[in-house]
Amino acid sequence: QIDSTSKLEGVWRISKLRVSVHEDPGKDFRGVSEVLLKEIAKILKFPVASMLPPEAFTVARKSFDARKSQKEPKFVYTVDMDVQKLLSLEPHTLEFISELEPKVGCLEFLGHSSVSGDLMSIISNTWKLDKTASSREVASSNDIMGAYKLSSNRKPKVVVVGSGPSGLFASLVLAEVGADVTLVERGQAVEQRGRDIGALVVRRMLQLESNFCFGEGGAGTWSDGKLVTRIGRNNSSVLTVLKTFVHFGAPHSILVDGKPHLGTDRLIPLLRNFRRYLQELGVTIRFGTRVDDLVVKDEQVVGVKISDSSGSSETSSQKVGCDAVVLAVGHSARDTYQMLLSHNVDVVPKEFAVGLRIEHPQELINNIQYSELASEVKSGRGKVPVADYQVAEYVSEQNVNTPSNLEPISRSCYSFCMCPGGQVVLTSTNPSEVCINGMSFSRRSSRWANAALVVTVSSKDFDALNLEGPLAGIEFQRTLERKAAIMGGGNFVVPVQIVTDFLDNRLSVTSVPPSSYRLGVKAANLHELFPVHITEALQRAISMFDRELQGFVSESALLHGVETRTSSPIQITRSDTWESTSLKGLYPVGEGAGYAGGIVSAAVDGMHAGFAVARNLGLNSDTI
Ligand code: FAD
Repeated sequence: QIDSTSKLEGVWRISKLRVSVHEDPGKDFRGVSEVLLKEIAKILKFPVASMLPPEAFTVARKSFDARKSQKEPKFVYTVDMDVQKLLSLEPHTLEFISELEPKVGCLEFLGHSSVSGDLMSIISNTWKLDKTASSREVASSNDIMGAYKLSSNRKPKVVVVGSGPSGLFASLVLAEVGADVTLVERGQAVEQRGRDIGALVVRRMLQLESNFCFGEGGAGTWSDGKLVTRIGRNNSSVLTVLKTFVHFGAPHSILVDGKPHLGTDRLIPLLRNFRRYLQELGVTIRFGTRVDDLVVKDEQVVGVKISDSSGSSETSSQKVGCDAVVLAVGHSARDTYQMLLSHNVDVVPKEFAVGLRIEHPQELINNIQYSELASEVKSGRGKVPVADYQVAEYVSEQNVNTPSNLEPISRSCYSFCMCPGGQVVLTSTNPSEVCINGMSFSRRSSRWANAALVVTVSSKDFDALNLEGPLAGIEFQRTLERKAAIMGGGNFVVPVQIVTDFLDNRLSVTSVPPSSYRLGVKAANLHELFPVHITEALQRAISMFDRELQGFVSESALLHGVETRTSSPIQITRSDTWESTSLKGLYPVGEGAGYAGGIVSAAVDGMHAGFAVARNLGLNSDTI
């Protein structure tokens, strides 16, 4: 029951408003169109749609629904209705509003609007408030951040290792609440990193410390920049991260799109703005600097040992003392993982997934998904988004020919990190290994659609290859990556197989279809890459995907090997203080620590870690 006063002041969320492609005003229109007002009126059972004032409605979400179960592909809107605005413009709607009741699935009472601001304004407002307050009362906030006060005059020193999403957000929170932050990044700033990636793609020169995995912005900079996350779009932490991206230059549409994405061209200026803001706050950023070791005293981290990773100077290792280390190193910092073991830091193997990257002509995927509407895509310039897909199957143990030394297991096989209108890229961090991923630009206008097709693997798979210890998963990845490099014949050439040939277990002898991968492909039998049970799981799943997406198995679909770095193969366990379970003062965060997967979830984890460190160091909050 909602009391009538609240009803007259609150916000209602109206969902499942469907608008046909032809009637939709298109992606550049930010308001509430006439046709949308008609749909709103239907759900509200309001008799005259034209009497509803558009100013009272805000589009909260817009998605494109092209599911085959629907009669016709349509845009699906979620809209928030501010009752006060409705009443001030149309006073005679009073009676109608007072009779409004929630309806499951399409009408929900949100209460008072509580749209949170971006992370900086929330923290700095509360922080400024606190700094000027005569009493030590801390201003409270309904938001997740709460407010902070320094418990001593000395600024606590924090070293953040890694400038991926998790490291950036941890640094931002800590700098805003008054810590003395040094952000150490083994790779280069985006300007130099762009040149290094250019040299890789054009001249096959892999910089070991500045590449698709290492450098400013982390692994997600030269990426598709998908901002979807399993944490959920309505989660306040996710909203805060997205709003922070908007603050640094991302388009407002990421707050509304059902499947928001940025693309590499938008990520780069965003990161530059992020960097400038951190520097204005006093964060010391050291690019081309690698953390090689931890300094531990009395079972507590008291600093890090760093060295120049750019090769531009011969300086030997230096020590940087600090009160806490936020370890945000991503899933490719294999040397750092090894270093943690030398300090007996708790590290446990974690399930992850390996497989192949499939690439189709984008036009084929548009046709599969949209049928006759495919012509509306217009290389990302049309109303209809460039088509993507997401497939998943469970391959049961009876279906898999399991080797005798391995207990039968069931596996999930699924598409991962799908890049519509994108390209396949090299994510190796070592010249003797080949592993790949996908990226795109904001318009997603390339001729190709690629996605990883992966199968879950766990300790049982590593045991079967006699790989032991907490880093067995990394050895498993490395074995596959070395095999892929050999099968490609060197020089970062990637082994490929037409999907029909992979299903029939035969080498693609006729010429293979073109690939977006810039460093060359070579026909190979990708069955030689994996243990047989993984190959069979992939074969079965691909055949099942073709039932859902008819035409997915096609002579023009090319499988590329190998996709290994889907998520971290380990977890650096942490306690409820967010510290390592074995080493005080060490805060493992983000994807590399096994607590996130993807740009947004890594950013959220980094943000929460920032608050945890602040709290533990006495930059305290009463409200988190
Ligand atoms: P990372 O982003 O990996 O950052 C770790 C940073 O730490 C790196 O910059 C590294 O150089 C640095 N570092 C490591 N060791 C040290 C050390 N010892 N000293 C100093 N610095 C160190 N996710 C999505 O959500 N959407 C996508 O579209 C998407 N596309 C992707 C495309 C590609 C090509 C790749 C590689 C990944 C993609 N991802 C995507 C995954 C996403 O990038 C990661 O989930 C995310 O970046 C993880 O963030 P993180 O901060 O935990 O780690």
